[in-house]
Amino acid sequence: MAAPSLAVPHAASSAGHRFEFDVIVVGAGIMGSCAAHAAASRGARALLLERFDLLHHRGSSHGESRIIRDAYAKARYVPMVRLARRLWADAEAESGYGVLTATPQLSIGPRGSASLLAAVENSGAEEVDLARRLGGAVRVPDGWLTAVSESGGGVLHATKAVAMFQALAVKKGAVVRDNAEVVGIEKGPEDGVVVRTSGGEKFHGAKCVVTVGAWASKLLRSVAGVDLPIQPLHTLTLYWRIKPGCERNLTAEAGFPTFSSYGDPPVYGTPSLELPGLIKISCDGGPPCDPDNRDWTAGDREVTERVARWIEESMPHVEAARGPVIRQSCICSMTPDSDFVMDFLGGDFGEDVVVGAGFSGHGFKMGPAVGSILAEMAIDGKASTAAEAGVELGHYRINRFDGNPMGNDAAKDDY
Ligand SMILES: Cc1cc2nc3c(=O)[nH]c(=O)nc-3n(C[C@H](O)[C@H](O)[C@H](O)COP(=O)(O)OP(=O)(O)OC[C@H]3O[C@@H](n4cnc5c(N)ncnc54)[C@H](O)[C@@H]3O)c2cc1C
Repeated sequence: MAAPSLAVPHAASSAGHRFEFDVIVVGAGIMGSCAAHAAASRGARALLLERFDLLHHRGSSHGESRIIRDAYAKARYVPMVRLARRLWADAEAESGYGVLTATPQLSIGPRGSASLLAAVENSGAEEVDLARRLGGAVRVPDGWLTAVSESGGGVLHATKAVAMFQALAVKKGAVVRDNAEVVGIEKGPEDGVVVRTSGGEKFHGAKCVVTVGAWASKLLRSVAGVDLPIQPLHTLTLYWRIKPGCERNLTAEAGFPTFSSYGDPPVYGTPSLELPGLIKISCDGGPPCDPDNRDWTAGDREVTERVARWIEESMPHVEAARGPVIRQSCICSMTPDSDFVMDFLGGDFGEDVVVGAGFSGHGFKMGPAVGSILAEMAIDGKASTAAEAGVELGHYRINRFDGNPMGNDAAKDDY
């Protein structure tokens, strides 16, 4: 694949440096940090604005770990994961940081689960004898399908990864500002966009990329009158104690995989890695929440009990009875079809504003791919790297919900 050109043909040259910035990125979670890095890597003058402190814990990208897996029921995500893996490796090499620990990926569930069968097929996972493979560390009901994709999994160090992309963006000349809440995005006096903050500052950019996570619906409604059906959910991350003597069996070092269960509850987990003696086992979903008025505990007991019951039935080396040792809150921004939104905002803004939103609880792994897609859309008007990698952007259009509330499909549980 050809290396991307360093030139910034669309934004800077057509702007003739009338703008302070070629690309203004709003929101410094994983998506915005990757977009700022990708734009600055192209030589664009990039500004990254974050409403809270950098690396805060009020959005979706904080914490010790996220799974990267190529076992996807929707085949359209597989090329995006592959592109992201390549870009994760490039960023690690460029920064000297290590943020990705490769592991196998285990997919388990009832044989009748169409999502599981598709994920296994799309990732090339092979059916395994679980008892032989993991020495009884994971038990499943009789007849369940258990398949491993040997090099398809991995653990990303989430907060460190966001910090890595912010550091790389700054190294490439981007300006990063925190405690800068964007309250206005308007068309510029002649062209481009003017971005206003609650502190009264104004920045004039050729293009703007909006990556504000759980705040996407609110911000886009207020600046453009666009109604995007993105529902924030309060979601829990739970760490459980491993029983004494069993600690090593469940480590990444010993070959324990990242895993997803397609049964009920939809549990997932990572090997013991970032917090020795503990293992992360959590469950998808959670109750709706308002990111500006959070309850922080709604539904926690029910989720914790469901996961504890699953652990008692399925992971005999983990201590479930006394509850989780660590509980962290996070927000998943769900679209009705669980597919991302990556598109031009359109309307009066045309192609001057690019939106990356609705990452629906499975976006982190794609961060560098999404960042490069959004930056290329802003700079070039199209995402060539994605096209070359086989990522079909037609699935992620902002208008797919017009007159069609479920968007791409009706399946909410198959990512
Ligand atoms: C518990 C949990 C587990 C997950 N597990 C996985 C996993 O294993 N694998 C995976 O791939 N994905 C996973 N995800 C999903 C993934 O973490 C998210 O898709 C991803 O972090 C979304 O990033 P973001 O940049 O869109 O949002 P955020 O990280 O929330 O970033 C948006 C940023 O915009 C800022 N902002 C908002 N409004 C403004 C404004 N007006 N002005 C300036 N800044 C603003 C916010 O403060 C925030 O920092 C998980 C999510 C959760 C909650």
